[in-house]
Amino acid sequence: MTTSTTVAAYAAPTAKAPLERTTIERRAVGEHDVLIDIKFAGICHSDIHQARNGWGEGIFPMVPGHEIAGVVTEVGPGVTKFKVGDRVGVGCMVDSCRECASCKAGFEQHCERGNVPTYNGIGRDGEPTYGGYSQQVVVDEAFTVRIPDGLSLDVAAPLLCAGITTYSPLKQWGAAPGKKVAVVGLGGLGHMAVKIAHALGAEVTVLSQSLRKKDDGLKLGADHYYATSDEKTFQELAGTFDLILSTVSAPLDFGAYLSLLKTGGALVNVGAPEEPIALNLFSLIGGNKTLAGSMIGGIAETQEMLDFCAEHNLGAEIELIEAAEVNEAYERVLNSDVRYRFVIDAATI
Ligand code: NAP
Ligand code: ZN
Ligand code: ZN
Repeated sequence: MTTSTTVAAYAAPTAKAPLERTTIERRAVGEHDVLIDIKFAGICHSDIHQARNGWGEGIFPMVPGHEIAGVVTEVGPGVTKFKVGDRVGVGCMVDSCRECASCKAGFEQHCERGNVPTYNGIGRDGEPTYGGYSQQVVVDEAFTVRIPDGLSLDVAAPLLCAGITTYSPLKQWGAAPGKKVAVVGLGGLGHMAVKIAHALGAEVTVLSQSLRKKDDGLKLGADHYYATSDEKTFQELAGTFDLILSTVSAPLDFGAYLSLLKTGGALVNVGAPEEPIALNLFSLIGGNKTLAGSMIGGIAETQEMLDFCAEHNLGAEIELIEAAEVNEAYERVLNSDVRYRFVIDAATI
């Protein structure tokens, strides 16, 4: 293909407007590009933060979607990793400088010149990037990963963000047999965190706002489940955990959660709320505790995560929707009412 293609997509025309069907241009397939026929696109809470301008100035119209699963339908002449028919995924970024220390170390997400986000960014060609709520996408093979045969594409799509964002810190911070790990928030990220931490052999506790999803949490692999709305929870669990992973999309009282760590424990936050939080630093000093952050994962680690999930049969729990239901799905995510990831069937776009 030598020219760009027009494809259907769902876009937010402005930050205040609901998403609607539109068309966008996909660039011609370049030397190292693959053309992907998108089959499924997950809805991440980050899509909602950005489509509603919660993180600052977004680029509109915006086509969200950074949990993409599909099939390669064309490859550029220089492509070596993929061939037509391969099942592939694309996550939160589609390019980076590839030369800086972060890129060379496999942390493309922390590229010193800035990674190119899958949407709501500007590509190296100077054009805005558009995400997965669309029929096709053209991506450099270096930012495309392989979806192992053991995973269906629909349940694999959410792994491209929710999977890697939880796998990476759980590995880095030592979730393993003999470790007590708490997951705060049982949403898209949280439910994958439970599955992955359990598969890594840790003893897993869910800290959710209520006990509404307790049965699910235990089925997903949690050993214990507590409601954070119950004050007794914080008394009972004081000093319990080696690691707490917060996936909460809203500001949280981190001081209260730090009190649940053992001496030397770590609270790792991946949630990206729109407002800052206040923290009394005595909650860190006492007990030599660590408060850390983590952003998605590099490309090689994303492939490692997909292979791990295939080996352990860990797909996401999904609610498959038609593209026209996307605005309703956003409202349900905002109400913590998703079990546990909405996935758009791209055939309905
Ligand atoms: P989600 O599906 O909406 O899950 C968030 C969960 O947080 C909810 O299910 C709910 O769990 C809990 N929660 C929501 N509001 C709360 C509140 N006011 N107080 C306490 N708990 C609350 O969202 P997601 O897609 O998993 O994303 C979670 C966050 O991570 C978002 O901010 C997103 O932007 C961010 N994110 C960060 C990265 C990264 O690289 N660091 C990557 C992807 C997403 P319960 O109902 O169980 O309480
Ligand atoms: Zn995401
Ligand atoms: Zn770089």
